Amino acid sequence: MKKKRTISISHPQLVRFRNALREVISTAELVEEERLLDEENGLDHIYSETDGKQVKELLDKQDKLATAWNKSLCVCSLCGSRTSNMTFNPYMEEWFCVDCYEKNQEFYKTEARNGQIWNSENYTRTPSTEWWP
Ligand SMILES: [Zn+2]
Repeated sequence: MKKKRTISISHPQLVRFRNALREVISTAELVEEERLLDEENGLDHIYSETDGKQVKELLDKQDKLATAWNKSLCVCSLCGSRTSNMTFNPYMEEWFCVDCYEKNQEFYKTEARNGQIWNSENYTRTPSTEWWP
């Protein structure tokens, strides 16, 4: 997804349904995270070369799982809200609740106006709000 996008739901039944789905996904993520940790804890980290390889694979899986969760539509990357309407930040490729997005967008606009933020592609110090479009 390349564009900024806000997904808003206001109908109370749909909001409850969305929040329940997010809770199911959150629970599934936690269960998988615990399973990976249990599997890792059962291995001998230091003395076994085979186990060391498995530990690395498990750590990679844990990292991918955490990254997928943190970048998902289910949770705000800043405040952790799981019950809010969300806005996608195409620059960071993450979802933020509408409140966090608007607060940060205003912050970055102000900083850019004050010359504190510059374009990251050519480092010309051109004021830019590209991080929070
Ligand atoms: Zn938030």
